[in-house]
Amino acid sequence: MPGRPVAAEPGSAMQCLYQTSDRTVAQLLRGHLEALGIGVFVQGEHLFALQGQIPVGAAFELRVCVVDDEQLPQATRLTRNWLERRASPQDAPPWVCRGCGERHEPQFAACWRCGADADAA
Ligand SMILES: [Zn+2]
Repeated sequence: MPGRPVAAEPGSAMQCLYQTSDRTVAQLLRGHLEALGIGVFVQGEHLFALQGQIPVGAAFELRVCVVDDEQLPQATRLTRNWLERRASPQDAPPWVCRGCGERHEPQFAACWRCGADADAA
């Protein structure tokens, strides 16, 4: 299966979509995916509770993982789209709704006319 940002061992119980040491990014991505009906959780988040005890410079990372393997392809695509929009919100091109053909500025996440999500475009 191509296009998987984070490799997961075959048969593993969870599929990780994105890896970061930035807690804010991890939580934003989780919120975005959950709002779109993707069940996700952030692996490693509990380590932040111990942050004061972790030596400065210690590398620890958060992984945003999808709960249901069935949703992995969709979640992977949504994650990629989200990261691209996040990377260049001003430079992103307008998008055209696949549902009704309405044209939208990139900052709009969903079609105002028919409600289709931008990630479906
Ligand atoms: Zn539409």
